[in-house]
Amino acid sequence: MGDIPVTVHKHDALIVGAGGAGLRAALEASKSVNTAVISQVFPTRSHTVAAQGGVAASLSNVEPDDWVWHMFDTIKGSDYLGDQDAIELMCRMAPEVVIELEHMGMPFSRLQDGKIFQRRFGGHTKNFGKEAICRTCAAADRTGHAMLHTLYEQCVKNHVIFYNEFFALELLMNEGHVVGVLAWDIANGGFHIFHAKATLFATGGYIRVYKTNSNAHINTGDGLSLSLRAGLPVEDLEFVQFHPTGIYGVGNLITEGVRGEGGYLLNKDGERFMKRYAPTVWDLASRDVVSRAMAEEMRQGRGCGPKGDYILLKLDHIGADLIHERLPGIWELAYVFAHVDCTKEPIPVTPTAHYSMGGIPTNRFAEVVLGNMEKPEEPVKGFYAAGEAACASVHGANRLGSNSLLDIMVFGKVGGKRMAEFAASLPEHVPLPENPGRKGIEEVKNLLNGNGPERMGAIWDELKETMEFNCGVFRTEETLTTQRGILKKLCERFKKVGIADKGLAFNLDLIETLELGHMLDFSKAIVEGALARQESRGAHYRDDYPNRDDVNWHKHTLATMDEDGTIYLDYKPVRMKPLTVPTFEPKERVY
Ligand SMILES: Cc1cc2nc3c(=O)[nH]c(=O)nc-3n(C[C@H](O)[C@H](O)[C@H](O)COP(=O)(O)OP(=O)(O)OC[C@H]3O[C@@H](n4cnc5c(N)ncnc54)[C@H](O)[C@@H]3O)c2cc1C
Repeated sequence: MGDIPVTVHKHDALIVGAGGAGLRAALEASKSVNTAVISQVFPTRSHTVAAQGGVAASLSNVEPDDWVWHMFDTIKGSDYLGDQDAIELMCRMAPEVVIELEHMGMPFSRLQDGKIFQRRFGGHTKNFGKEAICRTCAAADRTGHAMLHTLYEQCVKNHVIFYNEFFALELLMNEGHVVGVLAWDIANGGFHIFHAKATLFATGGYIRVYKTNSNAHINTGDGLSLSLRAGLPVEDLEFVQFHPTGIYGVGNLITEGVRGEGGYLLNKDGERFMKRYAPTVWDLASRDVVSRAMAEEMRQGRGCGPKGDYILLKLDHIGADLIHERLPGIWELAYVFAHVDCTKEPIPVTPTAHYSMGGIPTNRFAEVVLGNMEKPEEPVKGFYAAGEAACASVHGANRLGSNSLLDIMVFGKVGGKRMAEFAASLPEHVPLPENPGRKGIEEVKNLLNGNGPERMGAIWDELKETMEFNCGVFRTEETLTTQRGILKKLCERFKKVGIADKGLAFNLDLIETLELGHMLDFSKAIVEGALARQESRGAHYRDDYPNRDDVNWHKHTLATMDEDGTIYLDYKPVRMKPLTVPTFEPKERVY
């Protein structure tokens, strides 16, 4: 094969990822500096487009609300692992970022008086947990779609430069500064170096590492591995959220908005079992609580169907008109994937892997931080992260529904502003390192020129099946140790992986193999973090350590990786100091 060309581009601000976080950052940065976005897919195909139920903000459109209540719910929902300064900032900025979207033209659903429609969502309450509240602002059940298209239009208007269908391969650093990325042009083939003054990762979550999941095919956590491979840490990866209502057998999401509108769960005896697990809020308890309750019902033999392996979600009683008006996408999903007409019959559901709480550690300014015990909050120069790829950490051990669309708007905006200020303060670009992108270039060339006998598909299948089985809703020392051994073997096999397609244009065999390499890297961090954490907190549930242990484990996990792929763990304190209000200390669980 002849030599593949390397093209160099120069921009002030470079954003990797064009979901809600990336586009919101690009919009902000492009107000003051030259801004480019690279994305593996066309921007409006990013996973944000699939978000259904809504975005949380204490607008008080339906009933009186307060950002302090929102903050309390988020901290409690995080099982006290969320950083309270970042959470305060997010909840205080929520009304502002939602009204901004409205002014950009985002087509929200409306109340009778013309204000933005708000619905109930799990874990969102009034008066510090007293009862459920309508806080989630929605565009029917296609909120992410409305949001992403609105932002993309605004970015185009603001002359953001897009490099669509470019795949980031390596994070480029020079003497501690992040100076851009090396990427592969998926459509044509070819290497591209993006040299930037400031780089922001908004590469989304890592949930494709689980077999049953609600996520887009591209959610393979690339940003995490690129950081790990550059010697930077990742935070709290063991906290993986399982959403209670994935369609049985396929995993597609049925939004929590269904339960917010009055739908509820039933076991095989027709019992509303959630009243036993969460006596105050029943079906609107936080996702970890509902998912475990469902799994427990099935374990106790009260699941539905011949194998007792699903639960029923009933919503026909809320009426066909309301379903068609507020939940049209859900009606369609249930019809296509579960073959049920949900205006007449319940939808069979099981927990589905849904959201990654962990990610690249940042402070509340979306600056990536070194995150070790000596210098936990020391920023890495020129590097920013926002959205599901980042760990701010506003979701701690468990995210509340509708807080992610909020997270991506707030930290996209804050990060975009911050990176633009930093870029503007540098008179010139920090130079590229010698031989920039050498490792990424070699990785691709080895695959294109090599002839390894192993195939990506078989390794990926085993990875996602075993991660689900051994590192899923319930975990124990035994299952996690088994998984550690399996990962070791899969990594050995991956060293001998080969691709059948040797072409340059649209070589998805190549891209998926690179993604598999990324997933193997950070799966080790998920498993090591989960094995070490001998407690149950939020979405991390250890059957052998069922209680939360604040004395030993009220801290964030940090994982780094050496050249051989060995993972090392470290820890850092939870930031317990809010900006203005009193600290919320860990309390006994009330459900
Ligand atoms: C089905 C579903 C429903 C949801 N509903 C809600 C909801 O109602 N409310 C809520 O708050 N949250 C919801 N969520 C969660 C929320 O949608 C996501 O957490 C959020 O949209 C993530 O946004 P993001 O910008 O961080 O990443 P994404 O939207 O996932 O975008 C990631 C971007 O990174 C790019 N990228 C990735 N790797 C590379 C690479 N190697 N090179 C170049 N580019 C790369 C991709 O092209 C993409 O543009 C839902 C999630 C799902 C899956």
